[in-house]
Formats: sequence, C-alpha cells, structure tokens
Amino acid sequence: MVAIKQQLVKRTNRISAGKNLINYITIHETANTNKGANAQAHANLQSNGNSREASWHYQVDDKQVIQSFSDLAICWHAGKGNRQSIGIEICVNQDGNYAKAVGNAIALVKILMARYNLNVSRVVQHNFWTGKDCPHFLRNGKKGINWNQFKSKLNNSNISAGDYLVLKYGDVGDRVKLYQDKLKCAGYKIDVDGSFGPAMLKVVKQFQKDNGLAVDGYLGPDTQKTLNKVVKDIKNAKEVDELTKYMDEVLPPTQQKDAADLFEKAHKDGYFSDNHAPKTKTMTRRQYYDLKESLEIREKLNKKVE
Ligand SMILES: [Zn+2]
Repeated sequence: MVAIKQQLVKRTNRISAGKNLINYITIHETANTNKGANAQAHANLQSNGNSREASWHYQVDDKQVIQSFSDLAICWHAGKGNRQSIGIEICVNQDGNYAKAVGNAIALVKILMARYNLNVSRVVQHNFWTGKDCPHFLRNGKKGINWNQFKSKLNNSNISAGDYLVLKYGDVGDRVKLYQDKLKCAGYKIDVDGSFGPAMLKVVKQFQKDNGLAVDGYLGPDTQKTLNKVVKDIKNAKEVDELTKYMDEVLPPTQQKDAADLFEKAHKDGYFSDNHAPKTKTMTRRQYYDLKESLEIREKLNKKVE
C-alpha cells in the first residue's frame, strides 16, 4: 500500500456542511503543468486558503499521496458529485513522472475502493458529473495511459472487499492490511503492517466488544460487515463536525467590517434591495463566504459582458 501523508486542512471555507455519502471516487488532473506544481504544492495551496472556490480530498504526484480532508468531508470538486464522492487530483507538473503519479493514484483508489466497498464502476471522471474535460490526459491518452487502461488496473486489485473470508490470529497479507486500515479508520490504534499478531487480536476483540459482537478475536463475516459499516458511517466524523461548526459560527469582529463593506458594495451595485439591510453582527462565516462568492461570480460575469 502506498503511504498516505496527512496534511489536514483545519480551517476552511471550501467545504459544505454535512457528511459525504462516499458512493463514488472522482478522478481529476490538476491541469497545472508548471514545474513544482506537485502534490505538496497543491496540499499547501489548500492549507493556506485556496483562492479558487474549490477543494479536494487527496492530491497525488509521482512521489507521494497527501490527504487534505477527511473522506467524510463534502469537498467542492465535482458539482453534484460533491455530496457523494471522494475527489482525487493527479498532478501533471512537467518536472514530475506522470506514469508514476497515475500509478500512485491507482494504489490510492484501490485502498479507498476496499475501504468503502466500492465497485470499479463507482470510479468516475470529473467529466461524469459536469462534462468538463477532466482528467484531461487520461481522457485523451496522450501521456501513454488512457481511462480504460486506468480502470482495468483497478479491476485486478489483489485486495477485494466483497468476500468475507475469516481472518484469524497468525494470518498475514493484504487482506489483513485491508482490515487493519479499516480498524485504524474506525479510530483504533493499530499498525497497518499486514500481520495479525497479538496487538491486532487485542484490537479486534475490543472492536467486537464495542459493537456488541461475539468477542472471539476472529475477523469473520459479522465483524467484517460491522466494521465496513462503522468505517463508512463515522470515519473522522468528529473532525468534519468541527469544521462544520466552525463554518456556522458568527463571523469574528475582525471580519465583520469586511462583511459590512461587502454588503455596502453589493447594495450600491443594486445587488440587494433595502430589505436586505446588513446583518453583519449575526452573520456566519458560511453566509459571509457565500455572499463573497456570489459577488465575485457576478463581477466575473459583468466583465465578460463588457
Ligand atoms: Zn477536475
């Protein structure tokens, strides 16, 4: 399994309230061929407050995978796909190796498919949701690998989540890794090393106890089904709740002045009638950013007309 580095964004106005249903995985390419436009650069962009009205869960280049948001966060990358998919950006920087970046993306997608029990038919292009020509190079195949080839590599995954083989103390291999990954996602402290040793046995028993299952230490069908459900339902829910709460807090006084200016400008432009008197003192961050965004879009549209 490819190592996933976490650089989680703690403060953002680039996600929606609620929890991602995770029915799909959406594949993107960054479309930024500049030197240095790698995964770290894109992760930093998200950490530092993306100027674009966008966000995504993972960015992948030829060297690493970096996670920016909990899988359960509703990021802004795929229109109506936002509420039900995990977004992955593949870097296309000219100083990176595209084939290797795609290889890392495949490894990541396999982990996510197994983690959330998703079939390969649930791996889709950004284009699927919005019609945009993204992922550009995978769509036209000009960099040596096309979409069908990408999908075929997901098919022969050696980690399948569909069957419920019993895993037990002493077992080793990818299926053990898969369930270690799920236990970790469910909030248990465990190494993802592919070995079902004493530490894992203890964790499995704890999980069974916590979920009202028979405490036998065997990872059989019941335990696996329950674990799959737990992972899908509560993974990082706390973190998402915190972000959501943050967005719904009233704007701090330092930003209230900004908001008042924004309102005044909008009012002058005829964007608001007198009925929409500034209520900046009770305005939440979400309302503020929504307003800011709609004004920016309006400005852009006006410019196009001119
Ligand atoms: Zn895209």
